[in-house]
Amino acid sequence: RSKEAGRGRWTVYAPCMDAEREERNQLEIDLRRAIENSEIGVVYQPVVDARDGRMVSVEALARWNRTGHGPVSPEIFIGVAEQTGMIDQLGLSVLRTACRAVRQWPDLRLAVNISPGQFRDPAFAGHVAQTFSDLDVNPNRITLEMTESYFIRNPARALAAINSLKAIGVKIALDDFGSGFSSVGYLRQFGFDRMKIDQSLVATVAEGGSAVDLLQATVALARALDIPVTAEGVETEDQAKILRLSGCDELQGYFFGRPMPGDAIGRMLMEQREVGR
Ligand code: C2E
Ligand code: MG
Ligand code: MG
Ligand code: MG
Repeated sequence: RSKEAGRGRWTVYAPCMDAEREERNQLEIDLRRAIENSEIGVVYQPVVDARDGRMVSVEALARWNRTGHGPVSPEIFIGVAEQTGMIDQLGLSVLRTACRAVRQWPDLRLAVNISPGQFRDPAFAGHVAQTFSDLDVNPNRITLEMTESYFIRNPARALAAINSLKAIGVKIALDDFGSGFSSVGYLRQFGFDRMKIDQSLVATVAEGGSAVDLLQATVALARALDIPVTAEGVETEDQAKILRLSGCDELQGYFFGRPMPGDAIGRMLMEQREVGR
């Protein structure tokens, strides 16, 4: 309750809701400003060939260090960007930054995450194509990762969007497979170029039980459809071994490298070339 100064009138309100709404508004304002000032950073996580452990690709991941608050999780600020229409600008800026970086790493492929909301813009595929031609990056080095939530909500639109992107020459990966419904039908229908096995499944494969059976069934499914498989969230050597023996083509996780700034990727590549010589 608050008393309006001097007039003796009272206003009733719920302080909790106000504080939450206020914080959320401020987060939105700060995010908008950060996007406009190009303060959203991009880090890169190595993806290695399962057979020899060599880095063959990187996944670009957005980072926001919010002034006065510290780092905000992408799960949070990507969500806010999706709900407020800022995702188009944010997504394209991550793509542009990552494409610029990958030009310096001719040996590597690049994966960039895409939100369902970005497809709502009919010009999206055009913007993507423009980015590649502006920066002179070969689209076939780039994979766009998307989760199945989108395909379930609007399969017809998803199929059209994917086809328009594939026409550009870019590859499409199904991210977080095994975390949701993981429909076999969608896998066939959409012609994905890669399947990424979710870290929730990877986290349990070294514990025995049915997880390894599930993993092998998943890899067999991808094999049947002729889709290469990346396992993500690999944290231990045991997990890496099981995933390799189960037939995963590429591995990604803290065991091989955390998401890191571009110059650290450059250094890893240099070391890799030295070793190869
Ligand atoms: P994702 O695309 O599935 O990315 C993998 C997430 O797992 C990343 O979290 C990464 O840091 C984390 N990770 C990698 N290896 C390990 C590991 O060994 N153990 C564990 N526990 N985690 C690992 P991050 O960076 O917090 O991103 C979370 C999600 O936010 C991403 O999941 C993606 O869905 C979304 N995201 C991040 N950047 C972007 C972006 O630029 N655009 C869009 N649309 N979404 C993004
Ligand atoms: Mg991803
Ligand atoms: Mg994932
Ligand atoms: Mg994820």
